[in-house]
Amino acid sequence: MKTSRRDFLRTSLAAVGAPALAALLDWHLAAAETAGYLRSASNDIQWRGAFGRAYQKAVHRLSEDPINNVDFILADVNFNQERRFTNYSGDISGRFIEVASLSSTKDNPQPSALMPVIEKIVSYQNEDGHYGRPVDWSQPVDIAGANDQSLVMPILWGNGRLMLGLIAAYERFGVEAALDSAKKMGDFYVNIVCPRFCDPARMAEYTPEAAGYAAAYVTCVFHGIEGLVRLWRFTGQKKYLDTAIEMADFHEPFDTLPVGHSHGSISTHEALMMLYEETGDKKWLQRVVSRWEAAYGGGYVNPCGGVSEQYKIRYTTDEGCSEADLLRLNLMLWRDTGQTRYLDMAERLLYNAYLMNQWSTGGFGHRRLAADDDGTFGWLERVAESYWCCTYHGGMGYYEFKECLAVYDKTTDSILYNFPLDFLAPIDGGRWTVDSVLLDAAEGVPVSTRVKLDGSAGDIAFALRFPDWAEAVSVSCDGRQLHGTVTEGYWKASVRFAPGTVLQIDYHARPLLEDRRFHKLAVPAQLPAKIGQGVLRFGPHILHAVDGDASVIRPLTLSTDGGVIQIPEGLISVEAMSDQQRDGTHGFVFDLEIQ
Ligand SMILES: [Zn+2]
Repeated sequence: MKTSRRDFLRTSLAAVGAPALAALLDWHLAAAETAGYLRSASNDIQWRGAFGRAYQKAVHRLSEDPINNVDFILADVNFNQERRFTNYSGDISGRFIEVASLSSTKDNPQPSALMPVIEKIVSYQNEDGHYGRPVDWSQPVDIAGANDQSLVMPILWGNGRLMLGLIAAYERFGVEAALDSAKKMGDFYVNIVCPRFCDPARMAEYTPEAAGYAAAYVTCVFHGIEGLVRLWRFTGQKKYLDTAIEMADFHEPFDTLPVGHSHGSISTHEALMMLYEETGDKKWLQRVVSRWEAAYGGGYVNPCGGVSEQYKIRYTTDEGCSEADLLRLNLMLWRDTGQTRYLDMAERLLYNAYLMNQWSTGGFGHRRLAADDDGTFGWLERVAESYWCCTYHGGMGYYEFKECLAVYDKTTDSILYNFPLDFLAPIDGGRWTVDSVLLDAAEGVPVSTRVKLDGSAGDIAFALRFPDWAEAVSVSCDGRQLHGTVTEGYWKASVRFAPGTVLQIDYHARPLLEDRRFHKLAVPAQLPAKIGQGVLRFGPHILHAVDGDASVIRPLTLSTDGGVIQIPEGLISVEAMSDQQRDGTHGFVFDLEIQ
């Protein structure tokens, strides 16, 4: 997509006699291409196994009550019925259009409400470009109202999501009316939102409640940046990029940790990553990386890889939307830096916090957390499957995770095999396929895969991510061990492979201990020993207590055999839990002791 956009823009600018601008644009886009290209086409990938089924369930959830209903979805723009968060105009409709469009193929839009919604929604746009109830934008607004009572901030939040939905409808189905509507909304941001809500002369109006919750200024205003960058990508109209940059710069003093809404905060950081991809300006990347390090180092991200609904160390609930955003942000950070620590954190989140947030219906939502001043340490009761937000966003997270299972790296003409899971992925436009099958675990090898590399001709290099939980990887072909070197988080084979090559990949690992901030803890030479608070990891799993009181941190006494920590009875992974067990309450941080 980037190449065709680049060609399109270059040709267009040359045609209107702006070669200097075309050259400048070319330079910017070249920078963006090297930063952002590492992904495969999500819908071309067959994701099999437990996670493939979880993704399918998330998509299938869209076709069930109350979602697959045109009037229900359109209520946030035409108010045909009163429903929760109705004034978040575009929140349900935009998210629904975005995830349903992207997960559909062009010839088979799903579910049945999708195309009628896309067709009808554009007729409800106001003259000034926004969707929702009429607003006099010159009047003072309630900048930190309650979620269900205030008007203006919820409208901005919802419109930000709807811009993304409209663009997705154009991307997948070529619906011109959707792109026209998105442009009209983009102009609303250019002409009204940015001047009105990013005005240095009005800082006193914005500042007092900056840390507020879901209807707050900081949460809702900057939610539009992501759509503006997407709009720039599809139209080449620089006013959208310029406005996105102006808003992102203005956001900086409000971009704090803690902050009242992790979904709003992390999704704005996704937009900053997109600005980095578009401009090559490292200041955007630096802002995101600094925040990432503060969040992971400071207890805002729990040992299962998830965050709380409010972006605080100690809070009472999580939110599926935020988990999805953090998953997506980690994938973007890897794509744009090449650093596998972000893939490690995406994998940790997927196997643990993500599965714990997904309902047996396929949807996502909120559950109560057990937390203290050092952060979250257990999962408590489910509160609500959130058909108004998380259920759509959870599917988006899976959709984008698929893009990164295995990718083609054109700079080294190699396959990057990122996640040892069950999938069939066409790489580099189908020139190669990666057919990855999970094998049974064995003693000391919690994860093992058989990977067939197929293509029509030539040969290709192969590199696999060396996970942070693995002690070694061994790769064999026809029973012969292959030589490789580990650099920059990847094990790279020293030879290239012909079509039809079958590799067996064994990931060797032992159970390991970590503190509550992702640091590995060594088993002391002198036993017994008190270790302190931490988690027990094995492979990609954080082990959870099946029974007992999850609202307190309980003692756990471990034993060793030949220096290897033994996994005690009563501790299991989230992946191994039944749906019913995942509905239950489980602690994962313990006061550790080794006998
Ligand atoms: Zn949500």
